[in-house]
Amino acid sequence: MLGAPGSGKGTQADFLAASLGVPAISTGAMLRDAVALGSALGGKVESIMASGALVDDGLMAEVVRERLSRPDAAGGFLLDGYPRTTGQAETLDQILEALGVQLDAVVLLEVPETVLVQRAVARRRADDREEVVRERLRVYREKTEPLVAHYSQRGLLRRIDGERSMPAVTAAILQELGVQA
Ligand code: AMP
Repeated sequence: MLGAPGSGKGTQADFLAASLGVPAISTGAMLRDAVALGSALGGKVESIMASGALVDDGLMAEVVRERLSRPDAAGGFLLDGYPRTTGQAETLDQILEALGVQLDAVVLLEVPETVLVQRAVARRRADDREEVVRERLRVYREKTEPLVAHYSQRGLLRRIDGERSMPAVTAAILQELGVQA
């Protein structure tokens, strides 16, 4: 799942994963859990997340490699929030190659910037203060948006209008993926 902060990708990932019978793997949720638990990983990422910046690619590679190697991911998975940089996309290719699997599709949720800010500020998560939201959007444009062209060139990109009701967006994605709801 690819999309700006506030695009609804986390919510959609959970609905879709349930429909598809695969785990939704959210790196943001994994990192928030690590912070809440006070683990070593959580200690490393807490202030980075609070500022709206990205955790470094090397650390994320370890997190994702470990998660994708767990048994529940063997029958397929949905990634939410990873990859987020071109470096992470390359790492993901290596991880998937080692596992002998391929990406089926990259779903891009498209939502206008004004709506993104409204939604994110309404959400009231720790990193959802307006200035942090704007920083996360800036980081998305700079570091993550290049992945749109990258996956489009590979023929994997599926663009979805994310400015609709939650069930309508889920239905549109399932239809685009050729899955019966
Ligand atoms: P998210 O819930 O996906 O919006 O992620 C929340 C925060 O976790 C981000 O603003 C980053 O600080 C961090 N994060 C989540 N996924 C990644 C990733 N793939 N690479 C770097 N940082 C990440």
